[in-house]
Amino acid sequence: MPPPAIPAPTPAPTRTPGTWDVIVVGAGPAGATAARVAAANGCETLLLERAVIPRYKTCGGGLVGASLAALPPGLPLNVLDTARLFTFTLNGRKECTRTSASPTCAMVHRSELDAALTEAACAAGATVRDGTALTRLEQQGGTVTVRTNRGDTFRARAVVGADGSAGRVARYVGVQCAQVDLALEVEAPVDARTAERWRGRLLMEWGPLPGSFGWVFPKGDVCTAGVVAARGNPAALRAYKEDFLRRQGLLGPPPLHDTGHLTRCRRPDSPLARGRVLVAGDAAALLDHWSREGISYALRSGNLAGHAAARIVAAAEEQEANAAADHYGRQVDDALGAEMRASGSLMNVFAHNPGLVHTALTHLPPVWRRLDAYIAGRTGVAEIMTTPLARAAAALGPRLPRPARHSPTVAPAVTPSPRR
Ligand SMILES: Cc1cc2nc3c(=O)[nH]c(=O)nc-3n(C[C@H](O)[C@H](O)[C@H](O)COP(=O)(O)OP(=O)(O)OC[C@H]3O[C@@H](n4cnc5c(N)ncnc54)[C@H](O)[C@@H]3O)c2cc1C
Repeated sequence: MPPPAIPAPTPAPTRTPGTWDVIVVGAGPAGATAARVAAANGCETLLLERAVIPRYKTCGGGLVGASLAALPPGLPLNVLDTARLFTFTLNGRKECTRTSASPTCAMVHRSELDAALTEAACAAGATVRDGTALTRLEQQGGTVTVRTNRGDTFRARAVVGADGSAGRVARYVGVQCAQVDLALEVEAPVDARTAERWRGRLLMEWGPLPGSFGWVFPKGDVCTAGVVAARGNPAALRAYKEDFLRRQGLLGPPPLHDTGHLTRCRRPDSPLARGRVLVAGDAAALLDHWSREGISYALRSGNLAGHAAARIVAAAEEQEANAAADHYGRQVDDALGAEMRASGSLMNVFAHNPGLVHTALTHLPPVWRRLDAYIAGRTGVAEIMTTPLARAAAALGPRLPRPARHSPTVAPAVTPSPRR
C-alpha cells in the first residue's frame, strides 16, 4: 500500500510587502502593550520606534500597584528598590516620614522596562523596527498610510499612535489638553553612603510654584530626582530644580542624564481616535493630573487600543470600523475617565493650597492610609475624592487665594475644561 499522501502545507497568508494589519507608533509602555495585544489577537503587527532600543526615557520609573497589575504576567522586571518610607516636605520644611503598610512602589529603569515590554510584543508575533520615526500619516478608503524618516511607505488597516506627549499622531487626531506641565529630571549617581541614606525611601516635596513638586526616587547607585510645574516659566522651574537638588545633596558628580519632558493631561472631551487611527498613553494625554503617574494609564490604554485595533482590522465595513473606534473611546473613558476627573479635582486643591494637602497627609493618619492604599493599587483617586474630607477640600480649593510666593507669570496648573 502506498504511504498516505502528506497534505500540502497551508500556504501562509500572502501580505503585500509594506502592508500590515496594525502599525503601532512608539515602543513605550502604551505602544509595546498595544503591539503585543494586537499581535496576540492574530494581527500582522509592525511596531515602529524612533529611538534605538533600549532607549532612555525621562521618567521617575516608579511603578505603583495599578502599573504592576497591568504588566503582562511573567514579564522580567529588574526592580532596583521598593519604597517602604515616604518622606513629605512643604518646600523643604515640615518634613514628615510615613511608613507604607504594604510596600509596593517599585523603582525601575525605563530603558529596561520598555525593552522588556517590547520583547514581549516580539514574542507575541509583532515585528519591531527601531531607529525608525513616523513622519507622515494619512488615511483613505479603509487604509492608513504611514511614511517614515527612512523613506519607507507602510500601509495598515489600523494605526495606534503611542508616540508620547510630543508625538505627531496626537496632533493628527487633534488631542486637546487641560493641563500641560514641564518636568526637569536628573539621574544622579550616588556614593555608597548616600545610596544607603535613600534606600527604600522616596521623597516628595510640595514645591514653591503652583501645582509643583520635587521628587527623589532611590535606585541603588543612582537616584532619579526632578521637579515639575505648569509649563510657562522654565527659568523659575530651573531655579527650583537647582535649589531642590542642592538641598537633597544631589549636585555632586555630573548626572548620567539631565533632561526635560512635557507631561499633558487631556480635556475630558478630547478625541481618542480619528477614523482608523487611535491614540493611547501620553499621546492621548492620559495621565494623573496630580502625581503625573502615567505608566499605568499607558499600559491600560495600550491594552484597550490593541484590542480595538484588532476589531478595526476585522471590520467588514467602514461603519463597523468607526464603531470599533468609538467603542475604544468609551472604554478608555470608563476605565480611566473617573480617575482623571478626580485627579484633576485633587490637583485644583493642591495647586491652590499645597499646605492643606501636606497637613492632611502628615497629620491625619487616615489620609496617609488612603494614599498608601492608592500606591499599592487597592483604591483609586476617584474613590479617595469621594471621602467627606476630600469633598470639602475640593469645594474649598478653587476659592482659596493663591499664596503670595507663587510666581504670577506661571499659568494656572489646571485650566477649566468644558463639560461633556
Ligand atoms: C520627569 C517625569 C517623571 C515621570 N515619572 C513617572 C513615574 O515615576 N511613574 C509613572 O507612572 N509615570 C511617570 N511619568 C509619566 C510616564 O513617563 C509616561 O506617562 C509614560 O512614559 C507614558 O508612556 P507612553 O508609552 O505613552 O509614552 P512614552 O513612554 O513617551 O513612549 C513614546 C515612544 O514613542 C517614540 N516616538 C516618538 N515619536 C515617534 C515617532 N514619530 N515615530 C516613532 N516613534 C516615536 C518615543 O521615542 C518613545 O519611545 C513621568 C513623566 C515625566 C516627564
